[in-house]
Amino acid sequence: MTAEPFALYVHVPWCRHVCPYCDFNVYAAAEPPEPAYVEAVTAELGAWAGRAPCRGRRAKSVYLGGGTPSLLSPAAIATVLEAVGRGFGIASGAEVTLEANPGTVTRERLAGYRAAAERVLDTLINWGRHAEIFAYDYDDEVLSHEKTVSERRPNRGREARA
Ligand code: SF4
Repeated sequence: MTAEPFALYVHVPWCRHVCPYCDFNVYAAAEPPEPAYVEAVTAELGAWAGRAPCRGRRAKSVYLGGGTPSLLSPAAIATVLEAVGRGFGIASGAEVTLEANPGTVTRERLAGYRAAAERVLDTLINWGRHAEIFAYDYDDEVLSHEKTVSERRPNRGREARA
């Protein structure tokens, strides 16, 4: 009998600014400590892969939430997805989602996420669809406006942790 696939959530706990109403576990950082985060989260994914209730089960969805996962580079996201694939396997047709703040992305960066995902696993067809939806939903004028609003927002709330 094949073990039931499961939904995997990966938390990226940084935003450029912490909104005063935010209830999530999030810290302010213009540039998250990407290498340390990737090392830690890939180690944790590897550890969970060998334990119940995850052992022997593939991921039917991978959701990178936050926080603002789009503060991480496409290369970092690719490394995290590689760890998911190596540790658990990703079910055919799985949905892979990356939360993005429009103020942190450009068309080039979205294309980078899609290219990175396509390099990692060719089962990540839905990743490409998400990237296209973002690209079509946010035209250049909207991206520019959102970036301006994001940059003006005061940095209130919790500060980044070292
Ligand atoms: S943008 Fe970041 S700080 Fe603001 S509500 Fe979303 S997760 Fe919280």
